[in-house]
Amino acid sequence: MFDKVLIANRGEIALRIQRACKELGISTVAVHSTADAEAMHVRLADESVCIGPPPASDSYLNIPRLLAACEITGADAVHPGYGFLSENARFAEILEDHNITFIGPTSEHIRVMGDKIAAKETVQKLGIPVVPGSDGEVKGDDEALKVAEGIGYPVLVKAASGGGGRGMKVVQKAADLLSSMAAARSESKAAFGDDTVYIEKFLTKPRHIEIQVFGDGQGNAIHLGERDCSLQRRHQKVLEEAPSPALNSDLRTKIGEVCADAMKKLNYRGAGTIEFLYEDGEFYFIEMNTRLQVEHPITEMITGIDIVLEQIRVASGSQLTLTQDDITFSGHAIECRINAEHARTFRPSPGRITYWHPPGGLGVRVDSGVYQGYSIPPYYDSLIGKLVVHGKTRNECLMRLKRALSEFVIDGIETTIPLFNELIRQPDIANGMYDIHWLEKFLSKP
Ligand code: ADP
Repeated sequence: MFDKVLIANRGEIALRIQRACKELGISTVAVHSTADAEAMHVRLADESVCIGPPPASDSYLNIPRLLAACEITGADAVHPGYGFLSENARFAEILEDHNITFIGPTSEHIRVMGDKIAAKETVQKLGIPVVPGSDGEVKGDDEALKVAEGIGYPVLVKAASGGGGRGMKVVQKAADLLSSMAAARSESKAAFGDDTVYIEKFLTKPRHIEIQVFGDGQGNAIHLGERDCSLQRRHQKVLEEAPSPALNSDLRTKIGEVCADAMKKLNYRGAGTIEFLYEDGEFYFIEMNTRLQVEHPITEMITGIDIVLEQIRVASGSQLTLTQDDITFSGHAIECRINAEHARTFRPSPGRITYWHPPGGLGVRVDSGVYQGYSIPPYYDSLIGKLVVHGKTRNECLMRLKRALSEFVIDGIETTIPLFNELIRQPDIANGMYDIHWLEKFLSKP
């Protein structure tokens, strides 16, 4: 096992990882920008190193500075969290070259899954169903028109290097295809330095259902069930639940086993998420994330498994001690992403938290990196915490969520709490009847 882990992240996830380290008896190193000197993840770590000025490119994304922090503190492993360098294959490689363990998959697996075209090809060969679309990259105009015609409109133009919903364009008719392709290309070039695009069938009413997988790189792999992340705004998840109201245990077992089996064949190491769109009883792979997900706690709540702790164990060379038969699903969990944003305009709302009162009680978990008196800096993601609620049934979970939201008080800044208060009162949410477009439609109503 490691003696000291450096956590190359900030906010709630840095704290989440520290908690797992502490329970394993590992000492923790926090890194921070000058804007984060007063952050909770810095205060609670055993040691901390300032790695630069506020912009992420000069701090949390700066590999030489992170390496120096490892050297100064003698850390023997790095946990990247999510975002920042968590899916940067080069970072994983550089760490390994310096004899520092990257807590995550091999750089090769990160690289393959980071390229959406290569990922789709890879998983298809492993037996995972994919969205109908072009056979890899689409180059010329004639080819694009032919492919789209073949699949049938509407189609979705997607960037091979895309992420966070960027480089994606829905095309309703042939006349718009070429201009949308050009737009997707230039957006992707600007954001990711790559203008490779491909075409997929645009599914009109799917749910976003993802399978949590876990492997040890030593021939063992399991799945931890699904999460339903269909409530999205601008392709960003807002509320997630597990299990999905749309699946039954047969469907879960079937798709879960396909995924676990694929990870076994790939000899995948660590935690991963295989994302699908689910429509009319069929699953369509869209991408695989080779890291811890923001919404991992809902899986922890229904399985009782500490995913971060397992990540650290496996990275240290241990075999997976869990078998598929050890995994049981108990009750229902929902996560609400609490952002420092206006609940309707979604305008960021950084600033000082003058009052902070999180909810408590049975089945309520708040993963957050803030505290009363803390000033949220304007430079980073607006996620300030996650309210995660567990109940024996979905209904109990919803009632508990309503109760927990009513206790949650955050003053001094705007947050998305009022949005969740509205959402849980909608009959469609209560009945679990929503697809990936539901939230946008709801928000566009006056
Ligand atoms: P990113 O990496 O940018 O998040 P994803 O491929 O994960 O991109 O897709 C993000 C979201 O975009 C999905 O959750 C879904 O809402 C929507 N989406 C992606 N592919 C399709 C598709 N073929 N049809 C309809 N919606 C899609």
